[in-house]
This record gives sequence, C-alpha cells and structure tokens, in this order.
Amino acid sequence: MAFAAIHPEAGRIDATLPDLGRGLTWDQVHKTRPRVALRCPECGHGVHAKVSARKLRYFAHDPGRPTDCAWLNESLEHHLLKLELATAIRAADWHAELEVRAPDGTWRADVLASSHDGTQRVAWEAQLSPITNEDIQERTERYWAEGIGVCWVSPGGKAPWIGSVPSIRVQEPHDDQPWTVVDGPAAFHFEHGTWIVIDAPQLTAFIGWVLHEQTIVHRVRSRYRRIWYPTSEGYRRRNLIWTTSRHIDTETRHEAMRQRQEERKRQREKQERRAEQQRQAEAEARRIEEERQREVQRQEQERQRKIREAEMAVRWEEQQRQRAIEAEQARRRREAEERQRQEQARAAEEQRLWQEQREHQMAVQWWAELSHTQIQELQDAVAEPLWKKQATRAEFDTQGASADNAYGIAIYIRRRLHGILRPSPASLHRLPAVVPVFVRNAREAHDLINTGNIEPARVVHFNLPDHEQMSLM
Ligand SMILES: [Zn+2]
Repeated sequence: MAFAAIHPEAGRIDATLPDLGRGLTWDQVHKTRPRVALRCPECGHGVHAKVSARKLRYFAHDPGRPTDCAWLNESLEHHLLKLELATAIRAADWHAELEVRAPDGTWRADVLASSHDGTQRVAWEAQLSPITNEDIQERTERYWAEGIGVCWVSPGGKAPWIGSVPSIRVQEPHDDQPWTVVDGPAAFHFEHGTWIVIDAPQLTAFIGWVLHEQTIVHRVRSRYRRIWYPTSEGYRRRNLIWTTSRHIDTETRHEAMRQRQEERKRQREKQERRAEQQRQAEAEARRIEEERQREVQRQEQERQRKIREAEMAVRWEEQQRQRAIEAEQARRRREAEERQRQEQARAAEEQRLWQEQREHQMAVQWWAELSHTQIQELQDAVAEPLWKKQATRAEFDTQGASADNAYGIAIYIRRRLHGILRPSPASLHRLPAVVPVFVRNAREAHDLINTGNIEPARVVHFNLPDHEQMSLM
C-alpha cells in the first residue's frame, strides 16, 4: 500500500493530492483501459490505483510482487497517519511529498515537507514498528547530514526512542478531538525550574509551528532532563524536546540563576571552609602555645624540684656531717668521762689505801700506848663483872685487833658478838652497828666521842689509869 507511484509520462504522482501533483485526475490512472503502466517508486514493481472501502486513494503492488519492498507491508493505520501528516503540512502552506527516496538511497521519508523556495525540508516519519535507538539515531543523523530536519511520530505508547531523537507521540481522533500531540512539546516553568509537557496541542497546529520555526528542537540541559507530565503526574527523562526560543531562554536564565546560586553556595562554603580552617589553625596555634607553656611550666617545676633536691642533699650532707661531729664529740666526751671516772676511781682507791694506811698507823700508835698488862687489865675489867654477875665467860678474839672491828678486839659471849674492846678513834666508821665499845677510862672515851663518829651512850669506860701503876712494879 503506497500513496506514491511513477507515471510513465508524468513521473511521480501522489494519490493524496487532487491533481496527483502532476495536473492529472484520479480517473486518468484509476481503472483505465488500457491500464497505465504505473511503477512502485521504491522497488520498480508494477502497481495499480485503488480506493479503499473508506474512500482512501492508494496504489497497490501488482501480483507477483517482491517481498522486500519497504511500502509493501505498511498497515492502513500507518497510511492514515502519513496522510494526516501530509494534510497538516499542506495546511501550513508547505509542499508535502509522500514516500520520498533520496536519489542516492541514503534516506527514505514517509512524508517530506518542503518550503516553497525549496531551501528548507523537514522529514516526518510515521514510526509504528519497533526500531532500535541506534537505528533511529543513525537515520536522524543521515537527515541532518543532508540539511533536512526530521520529526519521528509515534501513534502508540511503546516508543522508547521518544525524547532521544526529535520526536512526538500522537493520539488519533477521539471524542470529536482531531489528532493531538501528547508527548514531545514542552514549556519551561521558571518557578518550578522544570520542563513541563504541554497539554495536547492539535497535530496540525504543531506541524505549522515546526515548519514556521516557532517551535524548534531543543537539547535539554542535563540538569533539566526529568520532564514533568501533568496528566500522569510523573517525571520522564527526555534529551530532546520541542519548544520555543522563549522557553529555551527561560531555561538558560534559570540555569544561570541556579549557577549563580551554586556559585554563591560554593563561595559561602569556601568562606565557611576558610573560616573553619582559620578556626582550626587558631585552635592548633592555641594548643601548641598551651603545650609550650605547659612544657615551660613543667621544665620550671623540674628545675625547682632539682633545686629542692640539691638543697635537701646539701642539708642532708650537712646533717650527716653535723651528726658525725656530734657523734665524735659524744665519743670524746664519753672517753673523757671514762678517763675521769677511772681517775676518780684510782684517786678513791689511793685515798682508801692511804686511809687504811693512816688508820693502820693510828691503830698501831693507839695500841702502842698500852702494855700487855694494861690490855689484860682492860680485858679483865670487861670479863670480871660478867663472870661474877651472870657467870658468863667473855671470849676475846684471838686474832687481836682487826680492821674489820675498827682496829678493836671483838668480844663474844656464847659466840655472839658482845662488844668491841678499845676501837681506834680513827677507824670508828668500821664499827659493827649496835654493840657497845669498851675503853680503859674517861680520857679514852673522850677521845672516841670527840671524833663525832659514835654516840656517847655506846661508849663504856672503866677507871683504869693512863699509866701503869708504879706500885705494881
Ligand atoms: Zn514496491
């Protein structure tokens, strides 16, 4: 099914135009006798003019058709969309050619729109079958390489390439609505900072805007590629959209504003970073200074401690020295005291010996005053009364005068000490306690008492003469 065919004399004819584009009428090619030898512009096979049940004029391949012709398997739906595109292009006062093939075969357009002067061309591609992104990209670039604009048109919802090439999605007439564009054209909303798909303009109007360059293809800045769809209330990613230069300017202004904001934010963050670095540097400097002061303080304390230790060591040494001196002095003192004590002991011993010697000499003189007779006389004076009155015998120490008895002669009665006979006046301190002493007469008693070393009551004397009675001789 095709709208274009090659007429043997007129050349390329178009079933969608009243004069077939060549000043002919439909009747001149439809059901003529003999048949006009029409050929397919794509494959060269014979075609014949037909009219569908819905009064749509087209060309159909003759029997024995090749299987690889591009137009062969196109659906009616595809054909209707192509027809709609061509009709809209013509309504915008542009030429529309269907099923056009590049002379060198590099491209083949469903509908090629051309300006009157032929300087501008836009290919409109009704793409119903699946096509990869790579293929559609490549075919788009082929048009651009020839200076031909292009717009891919999808009547269905499943067209993943929408927005990756110049493209729109259209919706067929419904509820008294003509063909409308439901995806592709968008407007920039400054306050929201986003592109918004505009709400279903008519396809005819849209094609007019494109051909008169009121609407152009725009490559969305990467930041704004999430496009808002009010009807589905969601975002979709689009790289290419259709819009006006005013909206592109708005996007540019928004981008500039946003960059200014980001720049301000960067500046603010930079200042904050600088301030933070400054604060950290100051804190670090403070920390170092505090550390230094602590170190100075620590060193000072260490110095003070060493001074104190040195002072203590000096004091301790001084104390040790002082203690040694004191110990030496004490030792010398003790030695002196010992020497003195020994000296005193020696002197006392000398004194005692001298005393004993003196006492002994005195005792010798004391007893030298008496003769044996006189001594016997005195012993008798003591013994006789005892014998006469008490019949007790007085025993006189056979050792005679002894130092233990103060150089007197001990008197015993029944072996008990009874008294001391005539102790020496110089040795009275040696007398045994209590017992009386016996002397010859008052003069001798007086000699003893005068020493003050004996109580007068202890002294018993007799009336014996100092000298021997000459009469007795
Ligand atoms: Zn063909």
